[in-house]
Amino acid sequence: MTALTVPTMSLVLLVGTSGSGKSTFAAQHFGRFETLSSDFFRGLVSNDEDDQAATPAAFEALKHVAAQRLRAGLLTVVDATNVQAEARRDFVQLAREHDVLPVAIVLDVPESVCIARNAARTGRDFGPEVIRRQQGQLRRGLKALGKEGFRRVHVLHGEDEIAAATIVREP
Ligand code: ATP
Ligand code: MG
Repeated sequence: MTALTVPTMSLVLLVGTSGSGKSTFAAQHFGRFETLSSDFFRGLVSNDEDDQAATPAAFEALKHVAAQRLRAGLLTVVDATNVQAEARRDFVQLAREHDVLPVAIVLDVPESVCIARNAARTGRDFGPEVIRRQQGQLRRGLKALGKEGFRRVHVLHGEDEIAAATIVREP
């Protein structure tokens, strides 16, 4: 068991390529309303979770809800790939604005595993090249996360470390 400490007053970013298991991890470790998923918000604003054209509107709505939750003092988890530095920067900023700590939990899963999982999913027609691009972004991100302002960076390498992780909330 690896205990990942997460301050109660925090904005947690899950970071990982498509198929790395972010939504699965969120469902296992966080409450139903604590996790804000970019897919779910794409669905809310477009009726289609997979409509990539709905991404800007989805994130605008997601950040709005995240801000409301942080204002109410509620731990909030962002379930999106978060592999791009620009995407993370907005959330670090949001956390600061609400005096909560930005935390990153990285699911670093081999490209081959993510590609195989996505091939087996319905509605995720991302080809291997999308996963490869996200992996490249993730690799660069791993080096940069600490400097981006995250107060805790937890990196889980591979399926075994992910399966063994537990979340410990700290007051
Ligand atoms: P996306 O960014 O596309 O939303 P994701 O990171 O949220 O992807 P999940 O939806 O959690 O990924 O998982 C992708 C697929 O892999 C799902 O079919 C899920 O059931 C499966 N999966 C997730 N975690 C594991 C695991 N630890 N072992 C085996 N399969 C897993
Ligand atoms: Mg997901």
